[in-house]
This record gives sequence, C-alpha cells and structure tokens, in this order.
Amino acid sequence: TFITFEGGEGAGKSTVLQAVGQRLLKEGHDVVMTREPGGIDIAEKIRQVILDPTHTSMDGRTEALLYAAARRQHLVEKVIPALEEGKIVLCDRFLDSSLAYQGHARGLGMEEVLRINEFAIEGYMPHLTLFFDISPERGLERIDQNKGREQNRLDLEHIKFHHTVYEAYQWLLHKFPDRIQSIDADHSVEIVIEDAFQKVSSAI
Ligand code: C5P
Repeated sequence: TFITFEGGEGAGKSTVLQAVGQRLLKEGHDVVMTREPGGIDIAEKIRQVILDPTHTSMDGRTEALLYAAARRQHLVEKVIPALEEGKIVLCDRFLDSSLAYQGHARGLGMEEVLRINEFAIEGYMPHLTLFFDISPERGLERIDQNKGREQNRLDLEHIKFHHTVYEAYQWLLHKFPDRIQSIDADHSVEIVIEDAFQKVSSAI
C-alpha cells in the first residue's frame, strides 16, 4: 500500500510519518518510510541541486523537471520494488507537492506540471494521501519555535506564497476526495498521530 503525506510548512507531517511508521513496525507490518525529493542516492543528489540556495538563477521549469526526475528515480528504485514485495510505503511528499508548489504557487500551472509528472510516474498513484491541514500562519509559527529549520522559511513575508500553496492543497482535496483525506494538524502531535494512524490503518 502506497501512502503519501502532504501539506505546507510546519504541519508536522514528517514527525507524524515517523511515529505512524514506528507504530506499524511494532505491530509487525513491513514498512518503508521515505521522502521526496530524495530517499535514494540519485534523488538526494537532485534534492541538493534543487535546494542549494546559491542556485538563484534556477528556472522554474528546470526545477519542476528536476523534481519530476527525482520522483521517477525514487519511484522506480525504491517505491515500486517495496510495493511489489507487499510492503507499506509511507512517503513524505509526492505528486501533489509538485502540483501545489511548482504548479500553483510558482505559477507554472497545475496542468503543465501534471503533464511532465505523468511521464515520470506512468500512472503510479498513492492509494491514500493524508493532507495535514494547518493554516499557513499557524504552520509558520510552529517552524519559528522549532529552531534548526532554515532561516528563510521563517520569513513571514513569504506568507502569501504559503497561502497559495494552501489554496492548491484545498483544491486538490476537493478534486480527489477518494484519494486524499484531510487531517486537522492544528492539535497536539499525539492527537494528530492518532488520527493519521487510524486513517492509515483503515487503508492497509
Ligand atoms: O518536506 P519539506 O517541508 O522538508 O520540503 C522542503 C521544501 O521544499 C518545502 O518546504 C518546499 O518549499 C520545497 N518543495 C517544493 N516543491 C516540491 C517539494 C518541496 O518547492 N515538490
């Protein structure tokens, strides 16, 4: 079963993914926890290229293609083999991140970004996607308290950008109600973990 975790900054999805994965492992399930962009050597290298702050001249389409390339390699090398072995794959970000960030927030258009991603993923879609719903303001506040995340991400001037990302996720949620389930992430981490665990459990 292929399950992806999606959401904006400070929604807590990465923490919750680890906790849910550990709980499933304790119950005896075969679980792979991974993330995008990255998860394997080639894709981690692509991640470094994308997220390198000195690469200020990176073109938006180049960036979208790199995300799609990292996604494909990760899918082929790690996700598909694990699924074929009957494992549960929990993946931090997938296609919806590109639709929200590159497609909507960076302005390339969701349709265009979907097209290059269709080439990359060849129809491999998550069985379930959990969207961690938190307002951009609350999410950014949390990162603020959570030292160690990059400084530029704390910048409240970027709030408009994060609203656009949030808007895109809301749109996707309405567009794909059978695949995407929303989790109210504006609760204590224990409650959010419990909610995510229940939703994952009913999908496996
Ligand atoms: O998952 P995490 O929040 O660590 O992702 C790091 C950052 O990479 C995101 O906050 C976002 O700004 C960026 N990103 C992106 N497009 C994607 C995936 C991530 O812009 N498709």
